[in-house]
Amino acid sequence: MQVESKSMLPPKVELHIHLDGAVRPSTVWDLAKKRGINVPGSNAKEMTSSIRNFEMGTLPKFLDTFKIFLPPLIGDKEALRRISYEICEDKAKEGVVYFEARFSPHLLVYSDPESGHVKEKALSTHDVMRSIVEGIEQGQKDFNVKARLIICTARETPAWALECLQLCQEFSEFVVAIDIADCGGKDETEGEEYHHEIIRVFQEAERCGVHRTVHAGESGPAGNVKIAIEELKAERIGHGYHVLEDDDIYQMVKDKDIHFEICPTSSVYTGSCDSDFTKHPCVRFIKDQINFSLNTDDPMVFGNTINDEFEIARKYFGLSDEQAIQVTFNAARASFLPKQEKLELIEKLRAAYHVAD
Ligand SMILES: [Zn+2]
Repeated sequence: MQVESKSMLPPKVELHIHLDGAVRPSTVWDLAKKRGINVPGSNAKEMTSSIRNFEMGTLPKFLDTFKIFLPPLIGDKEALRRISYEICEDKAKEGVVYFEARFSPHLLVYSDPESGHVKEKALSTHDVMRSIVEGIEQGQKDFNVKARLIICTARETPAWALECLQLCQEFSEFVVAIDIADCGGKDETEGEEYHHEIIRVFQEAERCGVHRTVHAGESGPAGNVKIAIEELKAERIGHGYHVLEDDDIYQMVKDKDIHFEICPTSSVYTGSCDSDFTKHPCVRFIKDQINFSLNTDDPMVFGNTINDEFEIARKYFGLSDEQAIQVTFNAARASFLPKQEKLELIEKLRAAYHVAD
């Protein structure tokens, strides 16, 4: 079944969205009931508000919300297929023509033992990959959207890194990059060093032609952005707001034309940025013509769409219509698609926006 995208919205490209953080609340509820897994509230609406009412302004509290809605999704092939299919439908409705969804295969293999359900390891990381790829493949066809995947490894679990790189290579038809995030519910810390195995794996990724993006400078300092670029060979930075705190590092990212995956709503909810949007680092990024995109990060938690993020940027960051188009082209150029497919994406945007660039 091929259906044309129902969206009449201007086409968008989204580079920073977590597959599991983008699940529909109704799907979490449905899967929880089917699998007998506890979630708060007596209906999907109550469950959603209890998840979204986390203590705003702290990254660990935000990460804790995942402990509520992940157990119903994970350790189950059909559930993973379903959420991967549904993200395609949801993004297509928002006018997104291409997105890169990220996830940690290791965090999806089994349900949280703390919940008292599915105590045994239910899936292999290969099962996880195959289920997600199947959902994405079908979703692309049915909703006329293009999707690729980014595999996330965890800073606190160096033992996962090599397998993540191997999975990138094995599933290279769909996986375009490797990423690293803090998955243990803690903030980035000042100048925290990466385990040598993680550095080795990211440098190996560069040698093998696997793209790299790194969560850095979100809640942690500018120095973490420098480490991400110099040691982990990051081509893009997830968030990176705190890069502004160091003039030399800021100059370095400008010189290297590093792409920043900015997530405005997320940045305020996690306490990474001031809650006054008019003081957001993105205001400076726009002024300095930094290469950045706008993204939702985790719509399950924030209830946001990519169009909400553009609206925030327009209203509070002073993003003009022309600059908004530029942001979408920046995203397309910074995408990890192979050269020819990237050119096709840019062509598609040019045709839609009637612009030469
Ligand atoms: Zn993220």
